[in-house]
Amino acid sequence: MLLPLGGTGEIGMNLYLYGYGHGDRREWIMVDCGVMFGDETTPGVEVIVPDIRFIEERKEDLLGIFITHAHEDHIGAIPWIAHRLDVPVYATKFALLLMEHRLEETGWAGDVELIEVKPGSRIRAGQFEVEYVPVTHSLPEPNALAIRTPAGTVVHTGDFKVDEHPVIPPRFSFERLRAIGDEGVEALICDSTNAGKEGRSPSETDVAKSLEEIIAQAPGRVAVTTFSSHVARIKVVAEAARRHGRDVVVAGYAMRRVIEAAQKCGLLDEGLQFLDEEAFGFLPPEKVVLLCTGSQGEPRAALSRIADDIHPRIALEKGDIVIFSSFTIPGNEKAVIGVMNRLALLGVEVIANTPERLVHASGHPRREELAIMYDLVRPKRLIPMHGEPWHMMMHAEFARARGIPEVAQMLDGQMLRIAPGPAEIVGEAVSGRQFVDGRLLVPGEKGPVQKRRRLSFVGIVVVSVALDGKGNIRGPAQIVVEGLPEKTADGQLMEDVLLDAADEALENMGRARRRNDEMVIETLRIAVRRAAVAEWGKKPVVHILVQRV
Ligand SMILES: [Zn+2]
Ligand SMILES: [Zn+2]
Repeated sequence: MLLPLGGTGEIGMNLYLYGYGHGDRREWIMVDCGVMFGDETTPGVEVIVPDIRFIEERKEDLLGIFITHAHEDHIGAIPWIAHRLDVPVYATKFALLLMEHRLEETGWAGDVELIEVKPGSRIRAGQFEVEYVPVTHSLPEPNALAIRTPAGTVVHTGDFKVDEHPVIPPRFSFERLRAIGDEGVEALICDSTNAGKEGRSPSETDVAKSLEEIIAQAPGRVAVTTFSSHVARIKVVAEAARRHGRDVVVAGYAMRRVIEAAQKCGLLDEGLQFLDEEAFGFLPPEKVVLLCTGSQGEPRAALSRIADDIHPRIALEKGDIVIFSSFTIPGNEKAVIGVMNRLALLGVEVIANTPERLVHASGHPRREELAIMYDLVRPKRLIPMHGEPWHMMMHAEFARARGIPEVAQMLDGQMLRIAPGPAEIVGEAVSGRQFVDGRLLVPGEKGPVQKRRRLSFVGIVVVSVALDGKGNIRGPAQIVVEGLPEKTADGQLMEDVLLDAADEALENMGRARRRNDEMVIETLRIAVRRAAVAEWGKKPVVHILVQRV
């Protein structure tokens, strides 16, 4: 049984449940526990996590959380979710170190049991056996999972590409996947991100070459921004810098933390030096490469502050180069272009990824790579995941065209019986999104954020009136107006106009009707709204407070 609670129908927030058994005796494991990031439609919310009510209600049947790799869309929700489920979290060392940091920051470190898994090893959990199969992707230690149950084996690819020349180990497990395929695989649950793209993703080694060329020829400073977890990219930039007599300065907390974790995992040569921001000002322009966060245009990240020329220790100028060694996650285009424009205004040359100048390669499989995976695993059926509906549709079409016998399409919240086949949707579970709002988790739908969004369009008016028990008006009404235009078209104060409307409506009600609070509230609300529409053409949120004195 497969039940995705996130990641199937959207990019981000990956969380998949696999179940085995019937009814009350069904056991579950969770694969990944990721976040998505908020945008302008979620004011005040930066992090979004899956709604896990379904599994929380059955947490005694949940045996463990198995993490494929350390990207935020796969581990980011651990600090919000794991302590509520009371099960061990399994991951390889690099992911484990990053999760440890996050749990410490959020204060849940003592409440979550983290268990290190060696690449290639197998873990038993109830009727499940989970094998970690190393693949290649855009950060260290990515794994596919071979999940065995008495009903058969499924392969959950996680995020992968087929890179035959990765710059950091491990290598892609061709032999192991083929051997698992030989055993027989009921289903391949497979990354759909680039399923619409023909051909193969370039290798990290190709990217390394072109980055080195740019660094070799640069007359001044070179800054490289990339995803902070992209250790391979960090490594090739640092090595190229060393070969060309430049020191590497790192700006950005997230990237420094990843470098520390990578060093602990032995992924970066001990001879590679990473200097702190303080060193930047002391290095001549032709002797420095800056590695920095902010490839997605994040306003608080190092690069955005450099582009605004407000970074306390780092400044770039005419003759310097900034390389966006990244791709822009859909939704971030405006922010990224904003940073590029501000850099251009400083006279800085901006280099982004193009086919002619390869400064980034995706970590996800294009069609040739998907075909390689199919040929190794030879599944009876394919289930597209890790994609928006359109990506998953293209993936399904491609898989059918490549001769996969059965393709099952599904979305978050649907329960798919994988085997015995044919695969079939057999139920639905509560699913959706929860928003991290300050220190609290709030509902993604019908929660405070919807209200804030509405307020951001129309503002708010609060009117308070004082009445006695007999319906007499006791004192003047008061008004608070936020987010409305200050004056009407003919120059009157908006708040005076709205207050007059409330006063007049209250007068006209008559004493008897004023004894009823609800009637007062409704009558005044309508009057204030009507006045706002007449003057402004929009309906604000209106609240009426009745005090009985
Ligand atoms: Zn992912
Ligand atoms: Zn990933």
